[in-house]
Amino acid sequence: MMEPQERVTRAALAALDVAAKSFLSVDDLEEEIRACSARLIWRRAEQKAENRRQVAYHEAGHAAACTDAGIPFQLASIGTEDASTQPTLGRVVLSGPEPVDRFAVEAYVIMLFVGPAAERRHGNAFPASDLDNAHAVRLAQSLGFSDRARERFLALCVDLADDFARDSWPWISRVAEALLAHGRLTPADVLALRDVPLEAVA
Ligand SMILES: [Zn+2]
Repeated sequence: MMEPQERVTRAALAALDVAAKSFLSVDDLEEEIRACSARLIWRRAEQKAENRRQVAYHEAGHAAACTDAGIPFQLASIGTEDASTQPTLGRVVLSGPEPVDRFAVEAYVIMLFVGPAAERRHGNAFPASDLDNAHAVRLAQSLGFSDRARERFLALCVDLADDFARDSWPWISRVAEALLAHGRLTPADVLALRDVPLEAVA
């Protein structure tokens, strides 16, 4: 993908080319460049909004999985949309101790993978999940598996995370939309969104 700067430069060069061929005036040329910039700004705002939705679905996946598995957390939040070019940040603040036994680790690792799973299900083919992945690998290592057993364990957890995202999709979607609307949700909010009566769902 071209960098925005490169895109502007190319657009300007293309406009120059058009100007040279058709003897456009400097005013026409400036108009052309302004139109290119406007398109670029619009596209950037569109990308930002989509990025914010992806983050909302990612965090909603974690929050729903925490609630389902009884993993304590303080809140789920998503950064406000601002004028900066930074991507939106979201997080689920976990409050309990790290798990130690096999089944608690499994539930925890599945919860970590549900974030990227929800993002994929929402339509992002390549969710950025480096932190979740590193965390999951570290927890799996704490179980003392061989490398092969660890890989199998992680693959199983990815599958179970996908299953959870599929089976809980209406719930995860409601949590994501509530996050987009309110910016932050308590565990009680997330729980309340699980059993919304069907007639209350748009
Ligand atoms: Zn995550």
